Amino acid sequence: MQIKDTQNLLQWAIKEFQPEIALACSFSIEDITIAHMLTKNAENTRVFALDTGRLNEETYQCANILQHKLGIRIDWYFPRNELVEQMENDKGVFAFRESIKARHVCCRIRKVEPLSRALSNLKAWITGLRREQSVTRNKLEQVEKDGLHGGIIKINPLADWKTEDVWAYIKQNNLPYNRLYDLGYKSIGCAPCTREVKPGEEERAGRWWWEDHEHKECGLHVGNHVVQTNSR
Ligand code: SF4
Repeated sequence: MQIKDTQNLLQWAIKEFQPEIALACSFSIEDITIAHMLTKNAENTRVFALDTGRLNEETYQCANILQHKLGIRIDWYFPRNELVEQMENDKGVFAFRESIKARHVCCRIRKVEPLSRALSNLKAWITGLRREQSVTRNKLEQVEKDGLHGGIIKINPLADWKTEDVWAYIKQNNLPYNRLYDLGYKSIGCAPCTREVKPGEEERAGRWWWEDHEHKECGLHVGNHVVQTNSR
C-alpha cells in the first residue's frame, strides 16, 4: 500500500469524472480515510450515505463529527417508506433473521434501492472496499465497471490496503471513527445485523453472523468487471 498511489488514483478519478462522481460513505474507517483524502485533493466531491433506518446511534454520532471536522456535506438517502411499511406490516420487524431470502428483501428495500437512486446521475462512484475484508471481496480491483448500475465506473482506492494501514492513516491524521470499533466491531452495518468480532474471526464475521461466508453481501457490491485504464 502506498498512500501516494491511492491519492494519484483519486486525483485521476476526480479529473476524469467530477462532478459526476461520489463517495458512498458508511462511516467505516475506510470511507473516512477516503473522505479525508478527497478533501485534500478536490473541492466539493459528493459524499452520500444510506440511512437504512436501522443504523446504530454511534454511526450517526460519527457521521455528525466527520461532517463538521472535514466541513463536508453528506447527502442522505432513505428507503421508500411505503416499501418499509409493507415489509414490516407483512413480516414483522425482524423478518431478515428468518431466511437468506428475507434478509435479501430487507437489504434490497433499505440499501440497494436507495443506492440505485444515489448512483442514478453518476458516471463513477468510490467505495472503501478492500480485498482483505472477506472471501467475497478477494478478487476486488481498484477500478471496475459496475454492471449492476448501468456500467458506471466503480473505484476502490483502498483495494490493496491492510487493516493496519487504514488504522495508521486514521491515527496519523487524527480522524474520528465509529466508537463501536472500540467495542470489538470490525465491520459496521445495520444494528440488528452486526455484532462484534471474536478473536480469530475474519473482519466481516460480525455481519449477518448466522449466514455462511459466501452470502455475506447486501447486494450493493456484486456484478463488477475489471476496467483497464491507461490514463492514470
Ligand atoms: S443489514 Fe439487516 S437491517 Fe440492514 S437492510 Fe440488511 S437485513 Fe435489513
